[in-house]
Amino acid sequence: QQDFQKLKYDTLKYFWGYDSFRDSQEEIINAVINENDSLVLLPTGAGKSLCYQLPALLKEGTCLVISPLLALMKDQVSQLKQRGIEAEYLSSELDEYDAEAVYDRCKDSLTKLLYVSPERLTNAQFLQNIEEIQLSFIAVDEAHCISEWGQDFRPSYQNIKEFRKNHPKIPCLALTATATPKVLEEIKNKLELKKPFVFQKSFKRENIRIFMDEVSDKFQRVFDILKHNNDSGIVYVRTRKDAEMLSEFLKKNQVKNVDYFHAGLTTKEKNTRQSHWNNSDNQVLISTNAFGMGIDKDNVRFVIHYSPAPSLENFYQEIGRAGRDGKDSFAFLLWNQQELLNFDEILKNQIPNKAEFLKIITYLYSIFQVAENELPEKVFQLNIQGIQNFTRLSKAKISNVLNFLHNQEIIYHNDNKSLSSMELL
Ligand code: ADP
Ligand code: MG
Repeated sequence: QQDFQKLKYDTLKYFWGYDSFRDSQEEIINAVINENDSLVLLPTGAGKSLCYQLPALLKEGTCLVISPLLALMKDQVSQLKQRGIEAEYLSSELDEYDAEAVYDRCKDSLTKLLYVSPERLTNAQFLQNIEEIQLSFIAVDEAHCISEWGQDFRPSYQNIKEFRKNHPKIPCLALTATATPKVLEEIKNKLELKKPFVFQKSFKRENIRIFMDEVSDKFQRVFDILKHNNDSGIVYVRTRKDAEMLSEFLKKNQVKNVDYFHAGLTTKEKNTRQSHWNNSDNQVLISTNAFGMGIDKDNVRFVIHYSPAPSLENFYQEIGRAGRDGKDSFAFLLWNQQELLNFDEILKNQIPNKAEFLKIITYLYSIFQVAENELPEKVFQLNIQGIQNFTRLSKAKISNVLNFLHNQEIIYHNDNKSLSSMELL
């Protein structure tokens, strides 16, 4: 027992150079080593990767990691290799010989972590080879991709279920930063986690201070924030045009360390801009939500929302990219009266549509709730008052809505594109 304790810490120190585990990591690692199915629900930046990477080293065989993005896999594998850990990934980019070599290393139990996309789980060659590989456990990263309620639904994540059925003895660890009850339930069911050890921590990020800023001139406000900060940051905008125009405005005003990013750029441009930002400690990227999953940068000091995010989940994930090193960081949500007017207009027209109305109010309410205790009083009075300021609805009405919501399971998803809060705000 004591030896094992020592082995854990030695491994952590030897390969990662860390002296201690973060809050919940050790408990999770113990569960994984004890062969339990586990569900890990921790905020972005909490250090979920270590929760499967370290057990993978301590257990016999190869850990199969399922990951949604090739870029994410490559990144993790190269980081692991740099630490001296035997890790590989499979992708269609590998030719037959390279793939063969990867399989061979796994069969010889040399590779401790094998990263694959969920699509690969139905590939005949893969299925054939995997039979000869001793799997230690399966780690499903970004497990919320299996949920149809989530933003990032990936149909191929359903493949995991079948794979699990055919390998019933291999324990499974699911990891996600998405906390809505519906999504969690779905992860548990679809991955068929058996009496899982569930680890869930408060999603509050103590080191991020959130500001809701009412501003009439958003360009100017962004300019001011950047002027007072010479740090790395992200400005999230809604449209490609906003990204380009804001970037142009800032450059015109002698802000040099900015660039924009959106899905309309070529892959090469995107890579260049992302890696430039990644390697800098004062570069600011103005981006649509095309820039997101897989960002692994510690020293992001601020995240600005030029417009409110399309949902609480987005908002939470996006501001969560700030302060991953634990140092004080800021999130700014910019909004203006014009947006309120639009909001009012749409509310007026949509009041008969109660479901949508509630969704919008829920979103707003959630933002304020997340921000509670962290807002400077002057910026916003929270709770009913805050919502009233924002929506200009009567207190009684808001109160009714909130009472209703407290007894209601809250769903965040935006399949209804015609009337998601995205277009509303
Ligand atoms: P998540 O997947 O939860 O978003 P990551 O696994 O990418 O988070 O980890 C975020 C950052 O935290 C990484 O830079 C990682 O190296 C760092 N980290 C993880 N565990 C520890 C630890 N025990 N001590 C110090 N840094 C850690
Ligand atoms: Mg992660």
